[in-house]
Amino acid sequence: MPQHVLAIVDRPSREAPGTDAAPWRFVDPGSPQLTALDLGATRGDGIFESLSVGHGRAQALDHHLRRFARSAAMLDLPAPDLDIWRAVILATIAELDHPGEAFVKIVMTRGIEYGDRPTGWAYGSVSPDFTKERTQGVAVVMLDRGYRHDVEQTSPWLLAGAKTLSYAINRAVGREAARRGADDVVFVSSDGIVLEGPTSTVVYRRGNELLTPGTGLGILDGTTQANVFRWAEQQGLATSFELTTPDLLRSADAAWLVSSVRLAAPINAIDDEPFPVDAAFTAAMNEWLAALDD
Ligand code: PLP
Repeated sequence: MPQHVLAIVDRPSREAPGTDAAPWRFVDPGSPQLTALDLGATRGDGIFESLSVGHGRAQALDHHLRRFARSAAMLDLPAPDLDIWRAVILATIAELDHPGEAFVKIVMTRGIEYGDRPTGWAYGSVSPDFTKERTQGVAVVMLDRGYRHDVEQTSPWLLAGAKTLSYAINRAVGREAARRGADDVVFVSSDGIVLEGPTSTVVYRRGNELLTPGTGLGILDGTTQANVFRWAEQQGLATSFELTTPDLLRSADAAWLVSSVRLAAPINAIDDEPFPVDAAFTAAMNEWLAALDD
């Protein structure tokens, strides 16, 4: 049973010049595949998705594919051929053949500089163990993202809300959090609105309601948040979106950073102040998320 699987997608888009070759092929995941001129590597010019695999089933597959297509449109990339991407994801999962938690990352770059087609690949792997984050939680710091909350409307060229390969900032804030003795980050807009984590969506509970920052804030449309809301509604909780301030988040009964693969990590401290963790509620949420088969 392989721990890692890599498929090169030779036909990532319908607009790419035709090739008689198969739409994808499995290669040795340890072998070099990308050229030094690929714009994904030299400019971070491309898009990706990471999706959870539980018991051999892709989770939120349609939502991830929709978001992949939306990110491509925001970057003026050729439209990904979603039939091919769906098939390569399923084939990667089958090849991985792992009964526990795994993930698949799909990537489409603008391709080689001055070339005529995007570059695409799908990488499948067994997931790291996130038990500690899921049970003990994460300490977060709130950091200014430096943009207003309406940046998506005022400046679409900043690509806020697209899942691009340009994650150097999302990684840098993790190092800043570590310097401040924290594990993770909640971004706040320059005008004081809670946004998202660098790799996660913020979800919080107030009484019998589960909430998340509103859409249209230049944040990613989270697939895990959508599933968490589905679960909450099954539990009889109300769900809604709201414009959230740091004080509103601090006054919540509990809060989580939710994302594919890591799932729900309860927030146990905000800016050095301890924050309540609802262990039983979190465990139920994670159990449901891990068992999802669609
Ligand atoms: N926001 C950002 C910036 C992310 O990178 C991610 C996931 O990587 C999320 C939110 C959560 O999205 P999802 O739940 O679909 O994984």
